[in-house]
Amino acid sequence: MIDYRSDTVTRPNTAMRELMATALVGDDVWGDDPTVKRLEAMAAEMLGKEAAIFASSGTQSNLIALMCHCQRGDEYLVGQDAHTYKYEGGGAAILGSIQPQPITNEVDGSIALENILAAIKPDDFHFAKSRLLCLENTIAGKVLPMEYIKSATSLASEHGLLNHLDGARVFNAVVNLGIEVKEIAQYFDSVSICLSKGLGAPIGSVLCGSSELIKEAHRWRKTLGGGMRQAGIVAAAGIYVLENNIQRLQIDHDHAALLGAELAKIPQLDVDLDSLHTNMVFLKAHEGDFIALSEFLEQRDILIDARYTARLVCHLDISREDVDTTIEAIKEFYK
Ligand SMILES: *Cc1c(COP(=O)(O)O)cnc(C)c1O
Repeated sequence: MIDYRSDTVTRPNTAMRELMATALVGDDVWGDDPTVKRLEAMAAEMLGKEAAIFASSGTQSNLIALMCHCQRGDEYLVGQDAHTYKYEGGGAAILGSIQPQPITNEVDGSIALENILAAIKPDDFHFAKSRLLCLENTIAGKVLPMEYIKSATSLASEHGLLNHLDGARVFNAVVNLGIEVKEIAQYFDSVSICLSKGLGAPIGSVLCGSSELIKEAHRWRKTLGGGMRQAGIVAAAGIYVLENNIQRLQIDHDHAALLGAELAKIPQLDVDLDSLHTNMVFLKAHEGDFIALSEFLEQRDILIDARYTARLVCHLDISREDVDTTIEAIKEFYK
């Protein structure tokens, strides 16, 4: 199967599995797992933060961060289309007693500065306390401009808010910009990264921040049921992907660019090339939906996530040859 549904579908390779099989482990809830500690130290160092904590998923890592930054009755400002708001089961509100204040995302994925400003509540008991701004980078495959990140986070800080980055795919932004992840992370009080997206680990996310924040994060991770025991087995794969799979994301970006450019030549399709910065291609059909196309592709062992729009995500289990096969198949469908 050539599977474009997400970059979460990648399978661990032999090298990763060998490291997992031979990883030194201990009980991480007791703080005894050397491999988890090594992963955490490595992530903290890369992001220029004091400390880090390994979490079972990005959803959990983001929720831990929100619960550390916000108390019951506080609110966080977040994009209407953001993962933490829209795709994490409402965890912040349900489990954290944190009110989300969603704000429309602009076409480029940013939240307009004037809209952030307008959403920050005055200190008045009628309102929840605005406590945190949460950005996402990349968002729907789009890279937030560095100038924007700087302005938005300093605007939030000036008004007494903290800043969190949902950096599930921050390394795609890093590779696109040709910078170090530190350069993005420096603007945030906490950053969550996913090892299991384009980087290709089977499981896991890491939350990075100050030592104080991470100490508090251990408490909330336990509360959320995220204390894992001999977690070094999965952390070993995380170390492998941080060491080996960051720069290769460029290959996925090149594959996506090629797919986008070729599919844009098909008259029935509308491809948003302006927002194709990284590994995701979004298609719209001028008429109808993509159901017949996805069935046609499935018969050819190609899976896409599609209904009225289609999303094709490139990752390390999709080769240049697979991309060529896919372009041929889609062209054949629309012939
Ligand atoms: C995938 C993802 C997450 C976390 O997802 P999990 O499936 O819980 O690991 C968070 N934010 C964004 C933007 C994501 O794409």
